[in-house]
Amino acid sequence: MNYSAYSIKGLRDGFKKRQFSSEWVVKDCLSDIKDNKLNAFITVCEKEALEKAKEADKKIKDGVDLPLLGIPISIKDIYLTKGIRTTAASKVLDNYIPQYSATVVEKLEDAGAIIIGKTNCDAWAHGSSGENSDYGSTENPYLEGYVPGGSSSGSAVSVADNMCFASMGTDTCGSIRLPASFFNVVGLKPTYGRVSRYGIIAMASSLDSIGHFTRYVEESALILSITAGRDMNDATTTNEKVDDYESYLRKDIKGVKIGLPKEYFTEGLDRKIKEGIEKEVKSLEKRGAKIEIISLPNTKHANACYYIIQPAEVSSNLGRYDGIRYGNGRDLFGEEAKRRIMLGTYVLSSGYYDAYYKKAMQARTLIKKDFDDAFKEVDVIITPVSPTLPWKLGEKTSDPLAMYLSDIYTVTANLAGIPGLSVPIGLIDDLPVGMQILGPHFSEGRLFQVGQAVEDSGL
Ligand code: GLN
Repeated sequence: MNYSAYSIKGLRDGFKKRQFSSEWVVKDCLSDIKDNKLNAFITVCEKEALEKAKEADKKIKDGVDLPLLGIPISIKDIYLTKGIRTTAASKVLDNYIPQYSATVVEKLEDAGAIIIGKTNCDAWAHGSSGENSDYGSTENPYLEGYVPGGSSSGSAVSVADNMCFASMGTDTCGSIRLPASFFNVVGLKPTYGRVSRYGIIAMASSLDSIGHFTRYVEESALILSITAGRDMNDATTTNEKVDDYESYLRKDIKGVKIGLPKEYFTEGLDRKIKEGIEKEVKSLEKRGAKIEIISLPNTKHANACYYIIQPAEVSSNLGRYDGIRYGNGRDLFGEEAKRRIMLGTYVLSSGYYDAYYKKAMQARTLIKKDFDDAFKEVDVIITPVSPTLPWKLGEKTSDPLAMYLSDIYTVTANLAGIPGLSVPIGLIDDLPVGMQILGPHFSEGRLFQVGQAVEDSGL
């Protein structure tokens, strides 16, 4: 029996009615992982997952009801998992076994989820293509020889290719939304501080957002309702009440005001992607949404601003991997990490700090203000996720600047700290494409509402 077609809800119903067990489902996922040649996992937790599945089945039999009881999920290998090797896809941490788990991992396990394995990604989450992994790139299941998108490449593929039912990733500048858009899955980057970063290997601490991949919008809402909330171990999480995300599902979109920022639909955007988004927007309009063309004038500074602030924070965060406290020595850092450490220390050095870092922080304030102003007029903003379809493996590896340009539409959300949801809008040239929905801080419920309307459009 193949369980991959089931939704999380479908699995839970099946468990309750004793149509099948968590053990069967986990076995099925493990055999799919074994047969899969896409290099989506760095570590597979076969033994632990099977034990947990048996425990889950016992609990189900005893009438225990938890939202993810017995459901196999995967975790980007940048989340600490107690007793399970955690590498950040870098040989620096090749033999690192954490003493504790990230808060989010604990929350998911408390909700009954079973960790089936740790997924491949760009080393330290640096990248847009998955090619920076020291364990080899994950492959694109739709098109051989093409990139999977990154940095959370293995997480996206593990959900898209039916090896588990949800996956946790990280998004510092699009690392969830970009691969989600390449693979027909739903990818959420929550508001900065909505989900705890504790126990997740830091890339750029003021930008890192902890989100996830699912097949359906309703499942994205379910996972966020478990992961969101204040964590005493992460002072950047807030006391803001966790919304009742489910209450936004299947809600009419009549009267919802949608902004289309003109700066996101210019030259450089693939014509067919633009047309695909226009079609979806028309369909939303037909169902009562109000569409408005808006302007986010400081968008043009976003990429430059990110590629100063992010390496500055990376250079500080990677300073701890000196071979004294964790793992191997720093001689094992790859090209991309070295590039970022050098760039970061340069922009922070005295003499250059004012010219680069301070300027970038000022530009960041303007980008944030653009959104604050826009959200006085509209409820959500719709944009592309990626300016292009997936590119060939190796095509951009020798040109880091060309690679950095793939972040152009995702970067602003991280700089402003706002949430973004990538939802599938269908195939272009046989390749899946996603569309981005952005909203004000803590408006994830609204994003699910609009995202589900897109999901249900039937286009
Ligand atoms: N492309 C971005 C970068 O390389 C993505 C980072 C991320 O979201 N983890 O910095």
